[in-house]
Amino acid sequence: MPELPEVETSRMDLQGFFTGAAVRDCRVLDPRIRVGHPSPPFFRRGQWVGTGIERHGKTLIMGFSQNQEEETEHSGKGEKGFFLLSRFGMSGSWRRVDARLNPPHTHLEIRFSDRTSRLVWVDPRRFGRIEFATVPFSSNLLSRVGPDALSVSASVFEEILRSTSRSLRSALMDQGLLAGIGNIYMAEILFDAGLSPFREGRDLLFREVRVLHASMHSVLRAAIAEGGSTIHSFAREDGRNGGYQKLHLVYGREGQPCPRCGLPVRKVTLEARSLYYCPSCQPPKRSTIRSSSRRDPLEN
Ligand SMILES: [Zn+2]
Repeated sequence: MPELPEVETSRMDLQGFFTGAAVRDCRVLDPRIRVGHPSPPFFRRGQWVGTGIERHGKTLIMGFSQNQEEETEHSGKGEKGFFLLSRFGMSGSWRRVDARLNPPHTHLEIRFSDRTSRLVWVDPRRFGRIEFATVPFSSNLLSRVGPDALSVSASVFEEILRSTSRSLRSALMDQGLLAGIGNIYMAEILFDAGLSPFREGRDLLFREVRVLHASMHSVLRAAIAEGGSTIHSFAREDGRNGGYQKLHLVYGREGQPCPRCGLPVRKVTLEARSLYYCPSCQPPKRSTIRSSSRRDPLEN
């Protein structure tokens, strides 16, 4: 499932192509993938241009504005700009393809009047969602998500961790608390920080919060530099795979020696998802009165 580094890779791959491009039309081929009320705006040839692509957590935000010349010529429309948001779900991705090629499972296409390629949204498993919005953070996809994991400050991150009694594993992956991290990077970040996934965020020492914040940023940045991780289906806009899966230290490495201590990496299944960690390098929580009464049965 694409997480922050994969979505950021898509953003960087598409940014140059999309920015400044004259949009000819945008067609939703499968309406089931669309959420929210606003419909795609009516595209008159040459009316809209791509203004750039932003990202928040696992959501990509493509901006469109009216072509200035067109606006003068046909003034009084009242439409200034809109955004196309995409959440990748399990298998969604943007691909840049030639004029008449339609990859299987294409659910949306954007055509341009000054580009020979099109952008298509491909999603075999259809868990991804797209939404048209005039204000991105009032949309269904973004109105209830927390700060972006890559840009959150250390102090806000600490507030988030202190606000919940849930485990670090669960808190880091809760998009309502912090946007962008899923099962893969949660495991890699906690291993990098040397923190047990079962510890509670509110029990961390101040210095442990700072270490975790630094690990989160360094792991995410390293993954972005490698073009993200390709585990099942993630592919870049030209079909290339990411490279960070080769650098995973615990994720997917059950039974293999921990790169730090040599003991086997452990895998447990929680809520139908696999959790990978090193019980030796990520020791159970420090013993406190509060934590002793809610010890996780998986800890040792
Ligand atoms: Zn270890």
